[in-house]
Amino acid sequence: MCKMKNIRQIGKFLKNICYIIKIVFQAAPGITTKMIICNIFLGILVSFNVYIWKYFVDTAVISLESGKIGAPAFWLISLAVCTGVVNLLTKLSTYYREIGQEYMNCKVANIIMGKIDELNMEHFDNPKVYDAVEKVSNESVARCISIIVMLVTLLRYLTTFIGIIIVIISLSNTIAALMCITMIPIFYVSISIALRQYNIYSERVQNVRLADYLKEISLKYENIKELKIYNAIIFLKNKIVCIYEKYIAEDKKYKKRFLYELTGTDILQYIFSTIIKIYTVFKVITEKGTIGDLTMYISALDSLENSIRTILDSVASLYSDNLYIDNLVELDNMRSGMEDTGKRELSSDFKTIEFQNVSFKYPYTDTYVLKDLSIKFENGKTYALVGSNGSGKTTFIKLLMRLYDPQKGEILIDGVSIKEYSLKSIYKNIGVIFQDFIKYPLTARENIGIGNVEEMNKLKNIEKAAKVSGADDFIEKLKNGYDTLLQKEWDNGSELSIGQWQKIAISRSVLRNSGILILDEPSSALDPKSEYEMFEKMKMLMRDKMSIMITHRFSNVRIVDQIFVMQEGKVVEFGSHEDLMLKKGIYYNLYSLQADYYK
Ligand code: ADP
Repeated sequence: MCKMKNIRQIGKFLKNICYIIKIVFQAAPGITTKMIICNIFLGILVSFNVYIWKYFVDTAVISLESGKIGAPAFWLISLAVCTGVVNLLTKLSTYYREIGQEYMNCKVANIIMGKIDELNMEHFDNPKVYDAVEKVSNESVARCISIIVMLVTLLRYLTTFIGIIIVIISLSNTIAALMCITMIPIFYVSISIALRQYNIYSERVQNVRLADYLKEISLKYENIKELKIYNAIIFLKNKIVCIYEKYIAEDKKYKKRFLYELTGTDILQYIFSTIIKIYTVFKVITEKGTIGDLTMYISALDSLENSIRTILDSVASLYSDNLYIDNLVELDNMRSGMEDTGKRELSSDFKTIEFQNVSFKYPYTDTYVLKDLSIKFENGKTYALVGSNGSGKTTFIKLLMRLYDPQKGEILIDGVSIKEYSLKSIYKNIGVIFQDFIKYPLTARENIGIGNVEEMNKLKNIEKAAKVSGADDFIEKLKNGYDTLLQKEWDNGSELSIGQWQKIAISRSVLRNSGILILDEPSSALDPKSEYEMFEKMKMLMRDKMSIMITHRFSNVRIVDQIFVMQEGKVVEFGSHEDLMLKKGIYYNLYSLQADYYK
């Protein structure tokens, strides 16, 4: 059983190594090849060095009697050249490694962003995905490079090992075998430490992520006022420090233990290697070897010890790095989860959207948040979803955009299941402004243009979209107009009010030019005049299309054609404002409550 597990682990280890070699070659083929060639040469030159020393010592002894210094001088110069080349190649190898690291940074960022794009929402309901991304962002670049450096080092020292072992076998097979055996304990200890270190790291990753996130929150301009007023910075600081201090205390304990284990095996190994060296000296003398032979064997033993130690260290290090790479492989292998088998392309002129008995619960939860929901939307009409917090309005929108699939029931567009349309065409044809829309640290033009990247460079269209929401007024007054960087945390950045940000977000969705516009609390921060003007413009813009508004402000709701009142995942009332007021039900009560408040 245990054997099987070990074999499986070794298999996985080798698979991970192959994966890394593949992505490093994809990221920087030229640099990687040069780094490998450099290291093979370095390995060969080290075993050459041992021979050159022997010939230098032997010719020097002869020249002491003959007085001819030609031969030792030749070997001395060869030695200098060899050392010079070794130095040069070492520096070159470091250079290639550093540049390679930059390429890998870029490659890993590519993998992460690609995956965020590819994975469906379900993955982001799972904290483990965030942990994996955190591990990949924190560790993978360094670990990929480390794996390549270790593989190259392995190659270099294996070359040295073969060269040197040939020298030692010429003296004694037993000495060569003994040298290899004495290295096993240090190898075992290194692997065991690597495994324990990885387990510690994995246990901590979620808390470290939390500490990083708390730091990030504290650094946001929009958060600072609240943090200061509530005196929350000290509280957050203590929380972060507490996490770090706990780990520092643990590390002191662990690292001390690792130090004892490594020092113990080092001492043991030193004793063994000294005994082997004494035996070698004895053997060379009894076999009447030259001083050159003695120098060569002793320096060969040193080189052999060094190369075996480095080979085993590299394997241990490769093993440790491979544990961290697991996350990258895992992330890269994650598949969307939602089948995008849709062959039809949704165009912007669809006529109806229908929810038929739809029930839905979020992944990793047991409660249905939408229950047997049936709603139909038609082209050219405006709709509103109203209801208390948590009644399922935003969830409804997420299903409409096919960010999730319902567990029961069906969603139809023009009578055809939403699953038959390609995801790309669905996303393209739905314009939506969420409550928590993104405030990008980009220019005003880019913040709007991101609604339709193809239009990013068409300033005229961006200005048109800004006019609809009324954003053009304040954008034109900014330092660099549409090219002003928004958000104050960056050089030359301008800060906008939340109402102004909402106008930017609205322009973003206008630029999309989609068949349906969904507004999730779009105007909560707008003043009444701006809100009224914006709705008028939006109605004009969407007159042949569909628009759905989620709102708490009943003053806006009056202007739509049909209102759906939601409660605990169900539609409990629907109709026009007038119908619902006559009905004197839930809507009537909620509306009257707000109207009284305004009065
Ligand atoms: P509304 O928009 O009406 O305020 P939502 O649709 O956002 O309500 O939420 C409906 C219910 O679903 C709430 O009880 C909320 O806690 C739950 N919910 C929302 N998002 C998630 C999620 N990603 N995972 C689990 N539950 C969620």
